[in-house]
Parts: sequence; C-alpha cells; structure tokens
Amino acid sequence: MATRVQHDYGVSAILTVPNVRVVIHVADWPMELMVDGGEENFLRVIPEAPVLSQPHLDFFESILRDRLRHRDWRQLRGSLINLDLDQMELVSKWLASAGYIPQAAMSEPSARYFSREDVANIANETLGWKPEYVTPAIIASLKKYRDVFAWLMGLGQQQFRRAVEQAFEFDDDRRERNRIYLREILSGDTRLKLKDPAIAFMAESKAPAGTDPETVRLCLQGTGTAQALSARFWWHSDGKPIVTIDTNSPLNAIGLSIHIDRNFSRRNWIVCDTCGKGRDRTRGRDRFCSARCRHRFNTTKRREKIKLLLESERAWAELPEWKRRGKERWRWISARVERVSRGNLNVDPSWAKRELSKIKARKQNRRRDVTRKAQ
Ligand SMILES: [Zn+2]
Repeated sequence: MATRVQHDYGVSAILTVPNVRVVIHVADWPMELMVDGGEENFLRVIPEAPVLSQPHLDFFESILRDRLRHRDWRQLRGSLINLDLDQMELVSKWLASAGYIPQAAMSEPSARYFSREDVANIANETLGWKPEYVTPAIIASLKKYRDVFAWLMGLGQQQFRRAVEQAFEFDDDRRERNRIYLREILSGDTRLKLKDPAIAFMAESKAPAGTDPETVRLCLQGTGTAQALSARFWWHSDGKPIVTIDTNSPLNAIGLSIHIDRNFSRRNWIVCDTCGKGRDRTRGRDRFCSARCRHRFNTTKRREKIKLLLESERAWAELPEWKRRGKERWRWISARVERVSRGNLNVDPSWAKRELSKIKARKQNRRRDVTRKAQ
C-alpha cells in the first residue's frame, strides 16, 4: 500500500492513504494547563465586545487563531523531546507554542469566560507564560511524556507493534490481578501475594528505566492522555475523502503523530553525533541535526587526524634504520594513524603526504615572516 506522509501540517493532511487524507484536528483555541500539570479540557470563551479592547480582540481572532491553526505536531514533538526541563524560559516557550495557557494566570480558575484581565495577561508572545507559572508538577508531567515519546520515536515498526501488544497484555493482567485480589479480600484471605504486572511489562517492552508504566501503557494503548479518539469520515466538495481525528489536547496530538509515523512512514529518530540532540530523519543516512553540526564534526575529525599524523611522522623519524627497511614512509604513517585511532580515522597515504607538506610549507612561511619582521 502506497502512503504519502506530508511534511507540512496545519490544515493539510499528516498522511495520505490512497486518496484518503488523514488530518489531526485540534481546536485553534488555547488549552489551559493546570498547576498540577493536568490539562483542563474545557475551553474558555471570550466575552463579547465591548468588554474587550480592539487590539485584544484582534489578538484572539487573528493572531492566536492563526498561530494555533498552523501548529506542526511533528515539530512540536521534536522540540519537546529535545527540551531542557531545567530552563524555565524554554519550557514556557514550548508550552506557548503547543497552545497551552497557564491556569495560574487566570483570575478565576474555573470560570467559563476569559475576564478582561485574563485576556490582557495572555495576549502576548508567550501566551501569558512566565517561568514562575511552570510548577514542579508541570515539569514532572512534561518529563513523563518527553521520555516516553523519545523512546517510542526510536523504535522500529515491528518493535512498536510488539510494544503495543504488550501494553494490551499488561492492561489485561492488571485487571485480572485486581479481580483475584478482590476475591481474596471478600473471602477473608489476604495472604496472597501476586507479582506486579507493571514490572513484567516494563521489562518485556524494554521501556527505559525511570519511565512511568502508566504513561507508557497509555501512549501505546491509546494516544497519550486518551485511550481512544473518535474520527470523522467525510469528503470535500471535490469528492476527496478525509478522515479527521479530533482532540483538544496537544499531548494527544503528539501521541497520535507518533502512532501515524510509526505505522505508516519511514521516519525515524536520530541522535546527532555532534551535539546529542535528537531529530526526525525523513530520508538518507544523515547523522547530524544541522549543517553546523556536520561541519563541526568534520572539523574535529580533521584536527584529530592531523594531530595523529604529526605524531606518527615523529614516530617514523625516531624509527631505527633497520626497522624502516623495506617500508614505505607514507604507507607506514597512515597505517599507524588507523591503528592508534582503533580504526576510527582512515587516512590515505597520498592524503597524508599532501597534508604534511602543506603544514610544513605553512610553518616555513611563518618562520620567514618572523625573521623578516625581526630584521
Ligand atoms: Zn547537532
């Protein structure tokens, strides 16, 4: 079955299964994040004019809506996985880009309307987020999801399917265990000790140590915060069919994007060889997150090579005559570089010769300059 995974998001499809576009639809309206890290699934509405000033209305009606409509869930997924949770400024920025607003900034926690002050508070670049609103509970919740998402993105298609199966098994085992306990308690016998199915689940699925079994299960069995999501099947005026999956939760949208990518695309998650940051790899065999990192890696490697080359040249010079006999200088030097670096650095004898003569020429020029200046 041919599938096409699109790179852009917004209102366009995340995936096209022959003729059917699959769209994740998240309301282009902010979602409140509570101080305990949970999502408030109720979306507040704005009071009618003239309570709000025109600039504030504009902010809501065009700027915010437009920004939220164009959220790219794959990009948000990547930036969450790479997010440094010790940097509150960065966390605030991520939360705003995902479409969260801080409940702590609202004048009335469970009101159905934004008050005038609420609107004034969130009508800005960071949607009202300030580092002090990022509570330890919010950090803990983000960490839970970040770690599980990072792990899921690194799994192959088969491993991913197997992990989903194991999550379903875990859910059954847990229910069965609760039934047995209940029976024991009702019969007055409480000596029974059963193994915690979460331990077996974490070991079998090879979920990373320290991740929370419940979050792992929910991300595999469901989409992150929901067990299942409903979808609408409809068609455009041009007759093209569309499946729209609705959710108001940014975390769910990210969880869903993982299921879509793990099942239908060849995307995978790579960790940059230079800076250790992860990113989506859509094609090829690139090991770097950016051109800068590739350049930095190559420069470092070149420096290491030159250093070993110079060292090997000295070693050659110190070699007694009888040991040099029958050996070719450049071949011996490049073989030594390869041996000392344990095969990490490959040097061609002709390259070695060229580089070393360039270095020598540069040194000589410098010496000449110094003598000229001294005169
Ligand atoms: Zn990098």
